[in-house]
Amino acid sequence: MSVQHDNILRHFSQCPLCNAEYDSVRVAVIEQSAQRTVFHNTCPSCETSMVLVVTQGQMGTLCVGSVTDVAAHEVARLTGPRIQPDAVLDLYTDLRQYKGTLAALLGERTNAARKAVTLSK
Ligand SMILES: [Zn+2]
Repeated sequence: MSVQHDNILRHFSQCPLCNAEYDSVRVAVIEQSAQRTVFHNTCPSCETSMVLVVTQGQMGTLCVGSVTDVAAHEVARLTGPRIQPDAVLDLYTDLRQYKGTLAALLGERTNAARKAVTLSK
């Protein structure tokens, strides 16, 4: 965590709902890159969670906080790789051209995934 992030986290020290002081030990860094850091914290008093997204851009540092009921491990899952529109269109095209049954298609993909896992070990 950089010095700048430490300064930002000072403003992330109090629950916006019950005003209790956050326990800095409970702050989780969900994602960290040169451009973006995502923090998660849960209030020790009311158990409300906050997500703080700090973005570094050409215009400076942007900091956005949001109250959430999402746990830290769920935030990590939600901020993971996103499905790209082209991937959805490719899947749509593949499904339109597929002539077999859905069960057969899923079986083929499951078997292909098992083979890929087996080959990668
Ligand atoms: Zn609170």
